[in-house]
Amino acid sequence: MKTIGRPIMWNLPHVAAVIMYSLFAVVLFIVAWGVYMRVGAYRKGRQEREDRFDNLRARLRDTFRLALGQQRVLHRKFGGLIHLCIFSAFIVLFIVTCLVALEYDFGLMILDGNFYIVFKLFAETFGALLVLGVTGALLRRILFRPEGLTKDNDDLFQLLLIGTIGVTGFLIESARIAATDPVIAPVSYVSNAIAPYLYGGMPFREILVVHRTLWWFHLLIAFGFLASLPFTKMIHMGTGTASIFLRTSRPKGALQPVPNIEEEEKPGVAAVTDFSWKQLLSADGCTKCGRCQDECPAFAAGMPLSPREVVLKTKGQMSDEIYCSLVPSAENLDRTTGMRIVPDFANGVLTPDEIWACTTCRACMQACPVMIEHIDMIVDVRRGYVAGAKIPDTVRTALRKMGDTGNPWGLPQDDRIAWAAGIDVPFAAGGKEFEYLYWVGCAGAYDPRNQKVSRAVVSLLNRAGVNYATLGLEEMCCGESARRMGEEGLFQLGMVEMVKEVFRAYNVKKVITQCPHCFNTFRNEYPQFGLNVEAVHHSVLIRDLIAAGKLSPRKANNLALAFHDSCYLGRHNDIFDAPREAIRAVPGIAINEMEKAREEGFCCGAGGGGMWVEVPGKRINHLRFDQAMRTGANAVGSACPYCLIMFDDAIKFNNLEDSVKARDVAEIVAESL
Ligand code: SF4
Ligand code: SF4
Repeated sequence: MKTIGRPIMWNLPHVAAVIMYSLFAVVLFIVAWGVYMRVGAYRKGRQEREDRFDNLRARLRDTFRLALGQQRVLHRKFGGLIHLCIFSAFIVLFIVTCLVALEYDFGLMILDGNFYIVFKLFAETFGALLVLGVTGALLRRILFRPEGLTKDNDDLFQLLLIGTIGVTGFLIESARIAATDPVIAPVSYVSNAIAPYLYGGMPFREILVVHRTLWWFHLLIAFGFLASLPFTKMIHMGTGTASIFLRTSRPKGALQPVPNIEEEEKPGVAAVTDFSWKQLLSADGCTKCGRCQDECPAFAAGMPLSPREVVLKTKGQMSDEIYCSLVPSAENLDRTTGMRIVPDFANGVLTPDEIWACTTCRACMQACPVMIEHIDMIVDVRRGYVAGAKIPDTVRTALRKMGDTGNPWGLPQDDRIAWAAGIDVPFAAGGKEFEYLYWVGCAGAYDPRNQKVSRAVVSLLNRAGVNYATLGLEEMCCGESARRMGEEGLFQLGMVEMVKEVFRAYNVKKVITQCPHCFNTFRNEYPQFGLNVEAVHHSVLIRDLIAAGKLSPRKANNLALAFHDSCYLGRHNDIFDAPREAIRAVPGIAINEMEKAREEGFCCGAGGGGMWVEVPGKRINHLRFDQAMRTGANAVGSACPYCLIMFDDAIKFNNLEDSVKARDVAEIVAESL
């Protein structure tokens, strides 16, 4: 016998339960059919190229952190809070409903006594949070819509459905309170507060009729919402969570390799089904939140790229594959043959300009709350373009130069040591034993501006007594740009093999690079092909040499320096402090932090082949330079040759050569010794 308990199916005829469970069976059938169709669509994708089920503990931890903990969602204060209200209410109200079902169906005495009081408090509180959250989300979409948030009818409809479920829940409970005046009515503090306003003075019989009508309405809306789950954005509750769980275990800076590249007939993506099942499932988990787009430098520069659109077009094309093949719409039918037309995915649904605009900066991936791997998707499409020889002239020229001359500048191999003329540089070929190989990189070897940085690095290494050597004419391109431009074959079969051979010959164990792109390749990508060396970025080594007293910057430098984080040093490899600490060791220098710095840094525009590709839109480096100048700086500091080239270009574009300098960390420290 219950002391204080929940009257389930109060004021309803016995047949109500029969109707409810019959409807529920139909709902379950529709949900199962929807899930079956979607899983079928994912299965049309190619096999995954990496293990998505390794390291289960870390996967579960990330799933809890990002799905249940909403960690990335909460980066946006208002939007994150709204989502947290709705999401937490969903979880709690789902548990509440399950408890009611358990008691009703299995006769368990769960909702009784103090537990029932706590249960009611939770139900009221999270019901209120649901209504508040939905109201906030609707206002945010209709009245205070931030740039980047879509106002789409699917979202509005879903929000209205959820809000109606919440509101009718309160109306039903308040009707019950008005009719029965239970002892614990105050515990249902929201329903109890509104009951007198809604039902005060209403005859008992009428309250019963209203209650019963609302109950059926609430049931139909809730079941309608449940049945629609696999067909609307709400699918992200399942697919988004799965996407997080299945996230890659690769290091952040590593692209997914194409195995057996020599035999692989489809190294990239031409049709949507050339994506892997995981990529399709992840795209289906997109919440349309726009966080990726908000962070994308190419989008900010007005280029024709939005990472959200890339994902949503993939999702849309996949959905077309499922549903249009069942019921093709008129515009998807060829008028003469009556066959369904499948649009060209890579060269129609997606556009080459969109795909080539990406700098692979990783800002989108860092922001995405469901851990979609945008860079891999984009590079896979590039791989498809390269395999099908559908590439813009600028890309073709850069790749040809890399293939023909071994560097993207297209300069002769004999010029590779021009930077070292007249300075004391030890070469490995001289038979010297060395601890570190100083990998100069194509930019450090060929680009006149960066040759100065290479000389500064050598002066620091010599001064600190580091035991090192360079490869000189035996050095070649590490292949980073080629890989990110989709030329996986040239990267794997050309660059990786050549580097392996030379490194084996000299028994190289540690490599110093001044280029974060080379650094990332040595650290994160060559291990995929069995080449394991310890990669050290020059900014880290310089910082350590200063700390060890082997370098002592003394000469004051009065630069007010806006320090720019290279994406491949920072976001891809989490190195933010070392260059700053090295610069701060120089007396007199001040670092003016930009609004977008460190993890939130903004790309210079050169990565991912951006250095070589022309895409319509404003230049990303000009935007970044403007951000640096807004700090009041008279210099821009970086630790990357590509960034340096980009800032020099922006300085020239703004005619500021006499007043603003672009400096590498090695130059700043070397000038101060
Ligand atoms: S990697 Fe960077 S440039 Fe590419 S889509 Fe993402 S945010 Fe945009
Ligand atoms: S891809 Fe990720 S960040 Fe971008 S809109 Fe979708 S869920 Fe949001």
